[in-house]
Amino acid sequence: MVGGKVALFVGRRKPAGSVRQKPTALFVGRFQPLHKGHLFALRHIAKQSARVYIVIGSSQEKKTEKNPFSAQQRLAMMRAVLVKEKLAKKCKVYLLSDIPNDYEWVSYLDAHVPRYDVCYSNNALVLKLMRRAGKKVARVPLLARAKYRGEKIRERMKERKEWKSRVPKVVQEKIGARKKSG
Ligand code: NAD
Repeated sequence: MVGGKVALFVGRRKPAGSVRQKPTALFVGRFQPLHKGHLFALRHIAKQSARVYIVIGSSQEKKTEKNPFSAQQRLAMMRAVLVKEKLAKKCKVYLLSDIPNDYEWVSYLDAHVPRYDVCYSNNALVLKLMRRAGKKVARVPLLARAKYRGEKIRERMKERKEWKSRVPKVVQEKIGARKKSG
């Protein structure tokens, strides 16, 4: 004990700067609907990251061909998945509407989401805009893209073909509940 203070660390300490914190990640998507490909990507991102900010984009959209589910429905799907995956503490979800000017999008997003170290996406426009704004980007690993693809799943729903096996069980339940309540 020196000067009445108790030493807080005993034993060998790592030199300053040697402790590598995992980064904070950003994952942007429309999740129309949230499918098993999104889940595969999310699990990968969560493993690499200390914290994940998930942005549900195009939040103003609903009941259209490309965006049938409302922001609240997509939020409910995402929350159910995060709870099921035990990721609710690590991940925080934000809703973000689109803006007319793509070149203002990254600063608009940054005004609504806390600071992040890396943006995960495979969307060419998102990657381009993020890179242009000087952000670090990483691609998400793809899972059987021909099968797990929002557009394909929406098509199958419309044509009344089997689609349930392509989304996580908890998402099936959320979509089922929506259909029952009209
Ligand atoms: P999405 O739900 O289609 O995809 C989200 C992510 O999941 C993508 O990176 C995609 O590659 C990945 N993914 C899809 N299938 C997968 C699979 N099988 N395996 C693994 N990963 C898979 O969402 P999106 O269209 O990429 O979302 C981008 C959002 O950003 C949109 O809401 C868009 O409007 C918004 N945006 C807005 C502006 C603007 O407002 N001006 C500009 C750029 C982007």
